[in-house]
Amino acid sequence: MSLAELIIRNTTKSISLHPIHLETTDIANDCQVILDEAQGAQSLIAKKNFAPGELLSRFYALDEFSQPSNDSLQIDETCHIGLYPTQLRYISHSCDPNVVFDIQAGEVICIKPIQAGEYITCFYPSTEWEVLDAFSCLCGSDQCLETIQGAKHLPIDILNRYELARHIRRLKRHQSLFSKAVQVSI
Ligand SMILES: [Zn+2]
Repeated sequence: MSLAELIIRNTTKSISLHPIHLETTDIANDCQVILDEAQGAQSLIAKKNFAPGELLSRFYALDEFSQPSNDSLQIDETCHIGLYPTQLRYISHSCDPNVVFDIQAGEVICIKPIQAGEYITCFYPSTEWEVLDAFSCLCGSDQCLETIQGAKHLPIDILNRYELARHIRRLKRHQSLFSKAVQVSI
């Protein structure tokens, strides 16, 4: 089975099915996975400049899971995917991110100017309800949230600073309604 067949076979209904041969962005040329020795982790950095609104890469589901892993992307309430191109799995978290995953379009879009050599970063709670392992953020931004656990653990006024995936907005609404119902019943 070819990789394209595997991707299409495993791609969930929520992600649009861009044929792999129509790929217009070559992330292998535009970005590079590096080993960040300070953090002991691999990260994705830009090899060229990107402008706000520019397409960094389309993305596809290589496989899907009912539970998150350390490098999966949550695409709806119950589905987590293994990303293709696999370089996208190395996008780091930042509380002041420079890209966003557009789940409906299947695209990673730049939201700030990115210079060659900069880390590519996204705000994990934009798509992740609960991360597998909570971690201390070292992004250094003025608005750093310090501990990242997922959108479930953040107030909506903090989340509203960011572009959120639709499933995160739905889950947040349900969480709010549930907590009000519990308060009424007490
Ligand atoms: Zn931070």
